[in-house]
Amino acid sequence: MGSEKVNRHCAIWQCLRNITSMNTKLAVVGKLIDGVSDQVQEEMTLIIEGEHITSVEPTKPESIAFMKADGTEVVDLTAYTVMPGIVDAHMHFFGVPSHKLYLIPTENEAYRVLRATSEANAMLRAGITAARCLGSSVSPSLRRAINEGLVPGPRLVVSGEFICSSNGTWDHLYLPLPWMRELGMLADGAEEVRQKVRERLRQGANVIKVGLSQAGVGDRYHPWGEDPYQNVPAYSLEEVMALTEEAHSNRVRVSAHCISDWSVRSALEAQVDVIEHGYPISEQTRERVVESGTIVTTTASQILYHKQAAHEYQYANYEIELFDRHLGIMRENFEAGLAAGVKYALGTDLVGRPTHPQDEAAKEFEIVVDWGMTPMQAIKAGTAMSADALGMADEIGTLEPGKFADLVAMKDDPLSDITALQRIDFVMKGGEVIRHSDEEVLNREEARW
Ligand SMILES: [Zn+2]
Repeated sequence: MGSEKVNRHCAIWQCLRNITSMNTKLAVVGKLIDGVSDQVQEEMTLIIEGEHITSVEPTKPESIAFMKADGTEVVDLTAYTVMPGIVDAHMHFFGVPSHKLYLIPTENEAYRVLRATSEANAMLRAGITAARCLGSSVSPSLRRAINEGLVPGPRLVVSGEFICSSNGTWDHLYLPLPWMRELGMLADGAEEVRQKVRERLRQGANVIKVGLSQAGVGDRYHPWGEDPYQNVPAYSLEEVMALTEEAHSNRVRVSAHCISDWSVRSALEAQVDVIEHGYPISEQTRERVVESGTIVTTTASQILYHKQAAHEYQYANYEIELFDRHLGIMRENFEAGLAAGVKYALGTDLVGRPTHPQDEAAKEFEIVVDWGMTPMQAIKAGTAMSADALGMADEIGTLEPGKFADLVAMKDDPLSDITALQRIDFVMKGGEVIRHSDEEVLNREEARW
């Protein structure tokens, strides 16, 4: 190789090194929960290049000092517990006040988008770095704008609008049927269901959400059902199979709203990828859920937040009774599922302000710990398992080399008090610091690094 060529080669290499070091950050961590191990690791350093983690290794003060002197940004998290960003596996950007969901079909769409954008920003600042919106016409556009860097928000997997049969899970029974058809949610029969999947993909959905259970004639609260044991199918098995086949041939996953034994069984039969709610089910069905390895999302927060809001927002008595009934059955099924080895991801089913703020997703961790998970189990369910539910297990959910640098930090210890997740002090998404409640610590002269 001629000397000129060698020089040019060296110059390019030097240039590449400079570019790399400009994009390198070190997160120096006091206590690390990486989402893989059950053990907390102390005094660890995450090396972050651009958006990704490239190395997780024991802290070496000399090399940190050296790299800092060389211009590498060092984020001092030695006083914190650091874990992967929270992943809410089930929520909704409806973009209307949460106690007036009947406004969804008629409210101005631009207003709904702006409202949802504000919720997305609040979520990210609270440490929810990824989420799956399972039913909202505005979410594909919100996802697009977040991905283009136009507005802040979590990484999103979105279904767009629900797919629902006539008189099915989310059919607004107070609207005339032709109006409902106009809204584009309804699909009946295998052919219409296939067409609806294609429409969703065209609208920018990257998961399909379908409602498999309803609650029978005369039910006053359709999505949840007055009597969850009634077992009324919203779709035939033939229709569900057509839907999953169409989605899977387009390499997109399917999530199904299942509140009944029949709906969970048909979801398993049709190879639905993630079961939402997933109660009440028989022992036999539970065994099949475990054997299939299908993830079930928890969705307890929505009911608890309804209960909290019931007085101030003057809920009808039948609704309060309904939520109590569901919460009891949901808890029994969760406890049985946990003992049987069901794979749970944490989803809140929160629907927005004022009663169900999306930035309070960490409440779900507190509930599942109250219902029997250890804090470490809950953390893994709401990070690694939720990432799996999103179909993003290779990209997020744990703090390992190759994953996006999506992480949160808090002063309190979440393993001794899981509500620490509701007091997150620091958020990073894709290597970018989103929020640090102790901004002055970063700039303090006496900071360790
Ligand atoms: Zn939902």
